[in-house]
Amino acid sequence: MATVDVTVMGAGIFGLTIAYVCASRGAAVRVIDPRGVGAGSSGGFVGALAPHTPERWDSKKNFQLESLLSAEKFWAGVDGISGSQSGYGRIGRLQPIDDDHTLMLARERIDQAKELWRGQAEWNVCSVDDFAGWVPPSKTGLVVYDTLAGRLNPAGALASLAGAVQKLSVEISPSGAQEGPVIWATGYEGLLELSQLLDKPAGNGVKGQATLFDYDAGSVPQLFVGGLHFVPHENGKLAVGSTSERYFDSPDQTDEQLDQMIERARVAMPILRDVQVVGRWAAVRPRAKSRAPILGPYPGREGQFLANGGFKIGFAMAPKIAHVMADLVLDGVDNIPDDFRVEASL
Ligand SMILES: Cc1cc2nc3c(=O)[nH]c(=O)nc-3n(C[C@H](O)[C@H](O)[C@H](O)COP(=O)(O)OP(=O)(O)OC[C@H]3O[C@@H](n4cnc5c(N)ncnc54)[C@H](O)[C@@H]3O)c2cc1C
Repeated sequence: MATVDVTVMGAGIFGLTIAYVCASRGAAVRVIDPRGVGAGSSGGFVGALAPHTPERWDSKKNFQLESLLSAEKFWAGVDGISGSQSGYGRIGRLQPIDDDHTLMLARERIDQAKELWRGQAEWNVCSVDDFAGWVPPSKTGLVVYDTLAGRLNPAGALASLAGAVQKLSVEISPSGAQEGPVIWATGYEGLLELSQLLDKPAGNGVKGQATLFDYDAGSVPQLFVGGLHFVPHENGKLAVGSTSERYFDSPDQTDEQLDQMIERARVAMPILRDVQVVGRWAAVRPRAKSRAPILGPYPGREGQFLANGGFKIGFAMAPKIAHVMADLVLDGVDNIPDDFRVEASL
């Protein structure tokens, strides 16, 4: 007789949030990962929970909105059980407005946010003077300030999740029997395996590199400047990311591309000019061909499922993905958006 109801392959953010929700609903869960918790792309330190712009709305943006809005309660629940800190905070985000065109778009989005974000978060145009000290340089003296963006500390969040699931009697081990429905949350290697099995590309890996500055920005919004996320963490460090590399030799080594990114960060935020770098990190993001998450039954594998394709917003999507996967696997209720089905990525 099986000793668990569900087996989850992969102990990244997808695997552990799914294990957490399934166990919270009373299922006996086993998580198997030969490399341990956070060994893949979830084990870093950026943790920007950054919303899409409120325009050209689609199911992916709506799903992400619902996930972001649920994040505070979700992470409070995880931290409450584990007794440790995910580092979650809904800190908002500032982006510079450097020209008239950007200003026009930013102003249009004020009303679009009211409608599409359903009054639960705001998109504002503000003066840099409203944010003393910690504000991106802006040629118009104006910035976008949204109140939906959040942050968490990826390593802290994974440790908190691992603690919470273990308190819910989930077994995390490097090997073991696959019993009950099996959910494959195995990151970019899982996408490569799927592509090989189907003999067509379903997705691949996109390497990213990020850095950590020894800079305590205090209780301030995160910034998005020059294509980089500047994320102030509760531990007094500032994470900045990330590079985006389709072609790479070494999945987890940092190199001169990170040096160049650090220089760009110092130019974008001159306050960091002499601040010491205390962390360098690289990993490979799972990118589905559709660029959306891939959720649902595993093609050709009876009783098996996929949860993958978090790409650049895996942490933002994870709480809602975990609920949708638990609905499907435990209750047979299919709440997966059509754009996220496996077929959409083939
Ligand atoms: C530099 C960088 C910065 C990022 N910044 C952000 C950000 O600011 N905000 C955000 O939301 N997202 C960000 N992301 C993306 C985010 O990290 C990913 O979307 C997310 O981590 C994907 O989680 P996952 O659980 O699907 O995969 P992973 O974390 O990669 O986990 C997959 C796990 O599966 C295991 N595994 C592989 N094969 C097997 C097997 N056969 N059996 C069992 N286990 C297996 C691996 O060991 C690994 O632990 C960033 C990514 C990178 C690289």
